[in-house]
Amino acid sequence: MRWVRSLFRIFVMLAVIGFLLVITGASDKMLFYAHVARLYTQSPDTRLAMPLENLSKKGIADTWQAPRGVGRRHEGQDIFAPRGTPILSATNGFIYKIGENNLGGQTVWVIGAGGRVYYYAHLDSYAKGIAVGDRVTTRTVLGYVGTTGNAQGTPPHLHFGVYTATGAINPLPLLTDRIAPVVMKKKETLVSRKA
Ligand SMILES: [Zn+2]
Repeated sequence: MRWVRSLFRIFVMLAVIGFLLVITGASDKMLFYAHVARLYTQSPDTRLAMPLENLSKKGIADTWQAPRGVGRRHEGQDIFAPRGTPILSATNGFIYKIGENNLGGQTVWVIGAGGRVYYYAHLDSYAKGIAVGDRVTTRTVLGYVGTTGNAQGTPPHLHFGVYTATGAINPLPLLTDRIAPVVMKKKETLVSRKA
């Protein structure tokens, strides 16, 4: 019964490898890379959902490429709203990075179809429990409008940026106003019933 023993040995080896992947978090990382690789095969979103609800695209004053100090231009759009207004993901995708930097303050980066990266900055706080690698939809709250980073002293706003492999593009032409998610609610009940 040598083959039984070798089969058992292979099984044990696989179990150990699996266990190591789980405890080191490598399996999560591998899964995340697999998701990102898949996103790269898709074409980029041509329409983005407004990151703030109840706010019309018409209300955004276009500041794309507006001068910002010496030798710097505005690489996105500023969307003004009261402090604490929830910021929803403009796309489906995965959280790529969460962190603080001098200009953006508290920021969240989401990677979407085509490998495009969506940048949300000046957050007052992050949504509870969000983590790098999380799958997001256009209903996912990422954080709340604030004035962190170089927005200190300005009216609270979300800085929203879109980055392609070759650099920033203007998000404004892609943005679309959100509509009431009536159909979605039905879908959610179906899903929860199945589960
Ligand atoms: Zn800005």
